[in-house]
Amino acid sequence: MSRTNSATYKNETIDAFEVDDNYNDFNRNQFKCVECGAQIQFNRGINKEDPHFKNWPNTSHQPNCEIELNYKRFSKQDNSNIYSIISTILPRGERLINLDSNEKKRKIRKRYFGKRSRQFLNSLNSLSWHELKELTLRTEDKKTVKLIDIIMRQDTIIEKLKNENNSFICILKGYTSKSIEVGKSIKLPLTNGGKYGNKNKFDLFIPASYVEKNKNRINTIENKLIYCYGVAEVNDYGYKIDLFSITHQVMIVEKANNSKYSK
Ligand SMILES: [Zn+2]
Repeated sequence: MSRTNSATYKNETIDAFEVDDNYNDFNRNQFKCVECGAQIQFNRGINKEDPHFKNWPNTSHQPNCEIELNYKRFSKQDNSNIYSIISTILPRGERLINLDSNEKKRKIRKRYFGKRSRQFLNSLNSLSWHELKELTLRTEDKKTVKLIDIIMRQDTIIEKLKNENNSFICILKGYTSKSIEVGKSIKLPLTNGGKYGNKNKFDLFIPASYVEKNKNRINTIENKLIYCYGVAEVNDYGYKIDLFSITHQVMIVEKANNSKYSK
């Protein structure tokens, strides 16, 4: 059963998150595959945390539909990680940040702590350099981005924050050092030796209300080369990504695979 992140609705392309956010505003009998026009259905996923579109009962995609072909190509056991990535929508950071705080917290939890973002992050370790370069993802603001373009070192992130003056979703790649308590919050500074695109200071920041939930895992990500998925932003204290869930936002880069990830 192929799954996809977008659908055609009344001649517009919409994302599963948009439907999830405005569930009752849509006639849910009218979603069609963006590639072949077959009728598809919206599904909120397990615990309503994984919105996506899937096949309408007893209705198949056209045999030559790109979504169907991708499913056949990638859904086999050894390639299921790739399938997980190409059927994923990347939330748009700015949109989350502009929401009021309760709403924002609910959405951030949903977007970051879903099973899909965990799978997505896990998949990165098993992809080849070529796959990282070739694979594209749809973002919530309807852009298609290359996976490789959102994997960044801290200096690149900082440069982009300075140039664009706006927070954004990315996958930070960098080396952590030992955690430091800052009041009731905790920060994990990244190393800044300058050799690996890390001249400037950058922190992973666990807000006070998320410390309890993460405290048993903090030491497991100290002094490690990691990928961290999140919203890069700047405030009065510096450049950072907030860490709400180590389990869902951080992946340690496996040593054996290091040579593949020389970006
Ligand atoms: Zn189709």
